[in-house]
Amino acid sequence: MITPDILAALPSPCWLLEEDKLEKNLQILKHIKDSTGVKILLALKGYALWHSFDLIGKYLDGCCASGVHEAMLSDREFGKETHTYSPAYKEQDIAVIAFISKHIIFNSIEQLNRFLSKAKEANSDISIGLRVNPEYSKAPKEIYNPCAPYSRLGITIDNFDESALEFIDGLHLHALCEESADALKTVLEIFEEKFGKYLDQIKWVNFGGGHHITKLGYDTQKLISIIKHFNSKYPHLEVYLEPGEAVGWECGVLVATVLDIVHNGIDIAILDTSAEAHMPDTIIMPYRAEVRGAREAGIKPHTYRLTGNTCLAGDIMGDYSFDEPLQVGDKIIFEDQMHYSMVKATTFNGIPLPSIATLQKDGSVDIIRKFRYKDFKDRLG
Ligand SMILES: *Cc1c(COP(=O)(O)O)cnc(C)c1O
Repeated sequence: MITPDILAALPSPCWLLEEDKLEKNLQILKHIKDSTGVKILLALKGYALWHSFDLIGKYLDGCCASGVHEAMLSDREFGKETHTYSPAYKEQDIAVIAFISKHIIFNSIEQLNRFLSKAKEANSDISIGLRVNPEYSKAPKEIYNPCAPYSRLGITIDNFDESALEFIDGLHLHALCEESADALKTVLEIFEEKFGKYLDQIKWVNFGGGHHITKLGYDTQKLISIIKHFNSKYPHLEVYLEPGEAVGWECGVLVATVLDIVHNGIDIAILDTSAEAHMPDTIIMPYRAEVRGAREAGIKPHTYRLTGNTCLAGDIMGDYSFDEPLQVGDKIIFEDQMHYSMVKATTFNGIPLPSIATLQKDGSVDIIRKFRYKDFKDRLG
């Protein structure tokens, strides 16, 4: 639990991982593994807090990486299976990626042809896959829909070249974003309709990410039965899932401090964090982060617009109401800030990145990292 003492001792702003909650997510994922034999990889794109990899590695099989840096992080800090998929590889990265990856997944037949022999040369055991586009998705927003018209992600059935089957071991599909087990069922039916004829020629299928497995109300039993059904239909296929969000779901917060309160028609609190720089999905997705102890505007007696400390006019987290008036120095706790926050954060406007800390299972706090002027300067030259 995040007590007032813990809050007072934290630097601000600060991401605080709650290890016990992370472990709960991992236990749910492990249950799915144990019930089905599926392998589960952490998608580093969504969650890459490598100080927690020792814990995650006790439960999951490895990581999926989107390029050379994530592949290196997986190899060096996670140390289990590394599966790499990139929309397009660069010549200079292929040897390193192949050397440290168990699977390498290509996004087009052209990339497969260009880099196959180079990948095999670097790692004769490497397993080769192709990403396909089932052209069906239930993603909530167009920006998160890899199967939208004109998508560059994955090969459509019309563009699939059967002669490539000779060189590959697996197919990869990633079509979901924050979706239910029912959505996976539908995507798989369509995948099988289109690509099912090839499944007896390969060894594995990767169902990608976007499964909201650890969210309250997700039907894990249904997911288990979908995977079991697939296993019984294709007993020779190894199945992979690669969730990111479901690993980092609701297992940590961003703590910030009220720096000033100004009035212009409404009460506006300026915090020492930023929606734009530290919580970009609140603007891009967009979504509204929950704030501990607060409700929507007007529900509790004191309403404020919570805003960031940059010069971007739209640097706004949203309007929230509180029981007591906010004071300069008060702490604001944004819930569920572990996934797609740290990995996306920037130093826009020179705003310092939040510190990183973990609340360990024994209740102690480990302050892992503080960011300084040098971190800001070094990334600009
Ligand atoms: C984004 C992504 C994931 C993880 O998705 P989540 O929504 O975080 O579970 C997995 N695989 C691929 C290829 C992705 O692009």
